[in-house]
Amino acid sequence: MNPHDPSSQAPEGPDQTTAPSAEPDPEFPVASVNLVRAALQSITYEIQAGGPELETGGILLGHTHGDHVVVTVAGGPGPGAVRRPDYFLRDRHHAQQLADTAWASDASQWIGDWHTHPHGPPHPSLLDLRSTAGVLSDPALGFTTFLTLIAVPHLTHPVQEEKSTHRSEPVTAGWSLLGWHVQGAAEALKVTVTSLRVTEHD
Ligand SMILES: [Zn+2]
Repeated sequence: MNPHDPSSQAPEGPDQTTAPSAEPDPEFPVASVNLVRAALQSITYEIQAGGPELETGGILLGHTHGDHVVVTVAGGPGPGAVRRPDYFLRDRHHAQQLADTAWASDASQWIGDWHTHPHGPPHPSLLDLRSTAGVLSDPALGFTTFLTLIAVPHLTHPVQEEKSTHRSEPVTAGWSLLGWHVQGAAEALKVTVTSLRVTEHD
């Protein structure tokens, strides 16, 4: 059984459009994440299917080897997902099915989430971080680090692009994909930038 059960409930409520208190600093990437091309293609498909107005997303499944993370599968929202202009909540049953399938296939585990911010911000919102803090604080899930990928329209975050010498951001279907590792407890959440590399294989 997958030790990371994605059927846990995230808190309800809209994404904040103001900067989160634990706003990530893009100057300090500390780790890289390998995104298998098939996972990027799934995200590309879901971004296009999701359209430019409502958030969409899904869970990320893969392997963690020390501080090296490989994303093998990126899920879609599922039919029961909540999709609003400023909020996304995954379909728990859909996520569970994906997690079970990936675990049976190659022991890929739930390692994080991805979702779009069609209207910004180009980083996890306060609600995103609150939701992630809930996942991290659940002992039944056993997370020490949670990977968060945010997709934003490519031309809406020129500040990020200026600093892109520090990080690698795949652009897919006109959207930039930005990554963070989130660790720690709610009152002292540590958010660090990841550099995303697309690879052909696990
Ligand atoms: Zn968000």
